[in-house]
Amino acid sequence: MKNKRLISFLVVFAITGSIVFAQNPAFPWPEGKKMAISLSFDDARLSNPELGIPLLNEYGVKATFFVVPSNMQRNLEGWKKAVASGHEMANHSIQHPCSGNFVWSRNRALEDYTIGRMRNELSQANEEIQSLLGVSPQVYAYPCGLTFIGKGEYTQSFVPLISDMFLAGRGWLDEAPVDPYYADMAQLTGMKMDNMEFEEILPIIKSASENGQWLVLAGHETNESGNQTTYLRMLRELCAYANDPKNGIWIAPIGTVATYVKEKRELMAGNVNIPGIVRPDKDGTLNLTSETGKGIGPDIKYMPEWNAFGWFTGKDRVEWDLALEKGGDYEVWMEWSVSDEESGRDFVLISGDQEITGKVAKSGSWETFKKVKIGELTLKEDYNHVLFKAVEDFDKGALMDIKSFTLVPLRN
Ligand SMILES: [Zn+2]
Repeated sequence: MKNKRLISFLVVFAITGSIVFAQNPAFPWPEGKKMAISLSFDDARLSNPELGIPLLNEYGVKATFFVVPSNMQRNLEGWKKAVASGHEMANHSIQHPCSGNFVWSRNRALEDYTIGRMRNELSQANEEIQSLLGVSPQVYAYPCGLTFIGKGEYTQSFVPLISDMFLAGRGWLDEAPVDPYYADMAQLTGMKMDNMEFEEILPIIKSASENGQWLVLAGHETNESGNQTTYLRMLRELCAYANDPKNGIWIAPIGTVATYVKEKRELMAGNVNIPGIVRPDKDGTLNLTSETGKGIGPDIKYMPEWNAFGWFTGKDRVEWDLALEKGGDYEVWMEWSVSDEESGRDFVLISGDQEITGKVAKSGSWETFKKVKIGELTLKEDYNHVLFKAVEDFDKGALMDIKSFTLVPLRN
């Protein structure tokens, strides 16, 4: 068993009392940093070029400004200087549409938008920012943090549009920092920094640092006091704290961090466990890899170097969620490894009321993976669930290492 076990660097930790998930290592932030912070400010408020940006420049901190083009006209020179000093200019639409539940937004209510109207408006905002400032926005902030258009049965999400048009999209009044492994780039969480003292933000930074997260802070005015205002005194303390090397913080605009996270994710693809619903590939095959599975139990570990679940004991299991456009029959192929002495235990794969059982056959060694057909399964349209585990608990040793199940459609 063993050498490869030592190089496996994943830990297992408790989410709740009873459910224990296999977990990834801390995200590899640049230069060994522990976390990332992005500061962002919405609407192109007058106090940004007047007070906020000069302060940020003092500390060499670059931020993201989600500008509404008409607001920028009030101090275009100030915004041009902001671009020259390296700040990111980003899209926040033309009309700043929010729910018509806000009376002030009723003449441009999200409830009255269509996807086409939204696409046109966001393209126009990109063009206006390009022509005013000479830069092309890469990221978007949802006005009021709202991601829907329409009402009742006509409600639609426009997150897919943001995903198509931008590198990233940011929300507002969210409750947690961004998990760089898991988060949807089109729905980055934005946590409020308006009307907060540094002492209130520091615990959020410390917790994000412990978890290797990306804290995206969102504000509006930059001044000493007032509504929707990020206090200058808080910004000073925050910038000084972020610049102190011993705090291990990478502070950079959203577009810069998003580009980095995306590249890292691509590099690590196939060697990181990010549970997610399995959808058929082009020829209809369903790949239930350990990369996408949920490893649950006291001992199970995801081993990035093998893209497999190991330490698979009698109390551990792996589960997958599946989304199918139509139901059908599938051949089930299992790819596993096991040492000769640990082989021979009974396994079961369960989906709904169907079970495929078998004995873990010899693969040659823990390092040699083999793939065989273990049975057939009928899956239904829409949601399916697959669970794999040992038939009976046992005291010592492991069931197997499991790399994947491949479900190949049977052509009738
Ligand atoms: Zn706004």
